Amino acid sequence: MDIRESEARVIKVVPEKRTHAYLILDETIFHPKGGGQPSDRGVIRSHDYEVTVKKAIHYKGVVIHWAKLNRGAPTEGKAMCELDWPYRYLVMRRHTAAHLLDHCLAKAVGTRVQTTDSWLDEPCYVGYAGGVPSEEALRSAEALANSMITKGASVSIRSLSSEGARELLQNAPNYERLPDLSEIRTVTIDGCQPIPCGGTHVRNLAEIGRVSVGSAERLSSDSFRLHFSVSASASSSS
Ligand SMILES: [Zn+2]
Repeated sequence: MDIRESEARVIKVVPEKRTHAYLILDETIFHPKGGGQPSDRGVIRSHDYEVTVKKAIHYKGVVIHWAKLNRGAPTEGKAMCELDWPYRYLVMRRHTAAHLLDHCLAKAVGTRVQTTDSWLDEPCYVGYAGGVPSEEALRSAEALANSMITKGASVSIRSLSSEGARELLQNAPNYERLPDLSEIRTVTIDGCQPIPCGGTHVRNLAEIGRVSVGSAERLSSDSFRLHFSVSASASSSS
């Protein structure tokens, strides 16, 4: 989803002190925190008010926007929503890079890898089960990722029925954490294993610019975090 701004209807407002409020919209472009992806930020405004959305949280099937009041007080009715697009786009590039690293790390170590979690704000990492790979394997994964980014590859989204998905996804790095849903949304980098994921991604690997693999932080004898970053902007790759 890469809609940057959109009109929506505010259907509920709960003020918090005089400075903040919780808002519910009929439809939202704000991606809530979840699956390693931090919440979108941005602005909701009408003629009479403007608020800065600090957090969007998924709660019992509803997205709740926690916002700071800038001007006036929010009311029910039509409003314009605008994402903090530079931040969202950075998260999309990091998110796609995280999936690419799963693929490249598996190639570098020669076996399937299993992710445990990830976080795409700061610090930015993917968590994996298993021992810390050698420095040589990490550099080789990084080199492969950057060569695939340079070549470019499409990134596509598909929804699969859960019966069909289980078999197709058995080598996915997060197979152990597959949600129990009748439909499973998958993301596929052309040429790589499809990965079940509900997050936001770029449409082509080239948009990542460049990925740098940082340290592998051992968490226990059987898990580690791989820290990584993407270049400051997709066009400033070098
Ligand atoms: Zn994803």
